[in-house]
Amino acid sequence: MAVDYKKLWNDALIEIELNVSRANFITWFKNTAIVGEEDGTVFLSVPNVFVQEWLSTKFNKFILGALHSLCPAIRSVEYLINQEESPKTEKKKENIINVKELKSDEQLGFSELYVDKEANLNPKYTFDSFIVGSFNEVAYAAALAVTKNLGTSYNPLFIYGGVGLGKTHLLQSVGNKIKQEKPGAKVHYLTSEKFANDFVMSMKNSAIHSFKEKYRKYDLLIVDDIQFFSDKLKIQEEFFHIFNSLYDKNNQIIFSSDRSPKHIVGLEERLRSRFEGGMMVDISKPEYESRLAILKSKSEAKGFLVDDEILDHIASFVQSNIRELEGALNSIIGQCKIRGRILSLNEIKELLKKNAKPEKSVTMSQVIRAVTDFYNIEEKNLFEKTRRKEIVKPRQVAMYLLRNDLQISYPYIGEKFGQRDHTTVIHAYKKIDRVIEKDDKLNREIMDIRETLFGKN
Ligand code: ADP
Ligand code: MG
Repeated sequence: MAVDYKKLWNDALIEIELNVSRANFITWFKNTAIVGEEDGTVFLSVPNVFVQEWLSTKFNKFILGALHSLCPAIRSVEYLINQEESPKTEKKKENIINVKELKSDEQLGFSELYVDKEANLNPKYTFDSFIVGSFNEVAYAAALAVTKNLGTSYNPLFIYGGVGLGKTHLLQSVGNKIKQEKPGAKVHYLTSEKFANDFVMSMKNSAIHSFKEKYRKYDLLIVDDIQFFSDKLKIQEEFFHIFNSLYDKNNQIIFSSDRSPKHIVGLEERLRSRFEGGMMVDISKPEYESRLAILKSKSEAKGFLVDDEILDHIASFVQSNIRELEGALNSIIGQCKIRGRILSLNEIKELLKKNAKPEKSVTMSQVIRAVTDFYNIEEKNLFEKTRRKEIVKPRQVAMYLLRNDLQISYPYIGEKFGQRDHTTVIHAYKKIDRVIEKDDKLNREIMDIRETLFGKN
């Protein structure tokens, strides 16, 4: 048949592009071309064995579909490695590595490149790509409500929850949606650390006036990770004035923090009450169903159709947060690409185990430290033989965490806590275990302590 191969392939690519993510499109369809056709089979030239494998196993459906709809006589596609492009095996190896790097660079570069300088928003964080489950639906609804009535429905909005659970994603989604719907709106996103640095710099440069002006002009100011304000009183004071000025003008302010305002130590009372005066919502850890849904959606977005059995395994294994979930998925996809084939379930299990954050690396003294910091008591108090309420609870919480999360034996814990009998430790453990069932406040406190222990590393 007399076909213009170049045109045919270009037309097909237009359709294919609609079905795969941009990063995938660039990675896998670069340097491809139709080089021939025979009896309804199209020969597609690809740069290396690696692309050959991926296109034929993962994208064949799209490719054939696009070609077939343009030219119904086409019934199959064969993928040929372009000999000119990879004459030596050494070069081929290089190609494989390049392909892998190219993808991550591409994704990074793509998102980083388009960060809106003024608003400081990353366009990849949108409501569309945010998956909603029971663990985050309240926060999601509140964030969406804010976009509908900026400054008037929930002001300020305060979203808190552990690391990697989607706070930044949600905060920036609000900013991106506002920018999209009201291009003239002055939106700004920054972390509280950046705010603090800005403040210090402006003091050094005697530019405090323009600093104040700058932050007072926003219609929507988003301050991420507000827990860094802890103990920075001068900065809190400055921020307090900015907050009031924005608030008085009905300008929207959104915060996030890794814990609720009342658990941020060293936060001035008046600022705390401002935070608590608006809408406070938390994001908890995703349960199994949500983890599975997230994995499904992420792998589809990347153009990788991963088996349900594998997704099920990742969702069961990685429970901590969404960032880790994404990380596990990415590392599996990365390995597939490096090896140029799909991994077996056993290989995936091994990989997950190898990449898993060793929870055991948290030590006994770190737990004790986290508990005493959290409840604002001295370490030595914890070991004293006292029945004071403000000591008894932290002590029981510490014992509970040591037993439950670090699997340390009851007798050993008893010994460390001033030679107490192991039955005392069992009693403490059972008591906390029972109380958290119905006491939300205590439950939350323990989760917050866990975040500081296991959340970041
Ligand atoms: P946090 O700010 O709470 O530490 P992030 O917003 O940085 O967490 O989220 C970590 C990663 O997980 C990001 O890549 C983000 O896009 C992704 N993520 C978090 N929550 C969701 C969600 N509900 N749906 C899709 N992706 C999510
Ligand atoms: Mg964040």
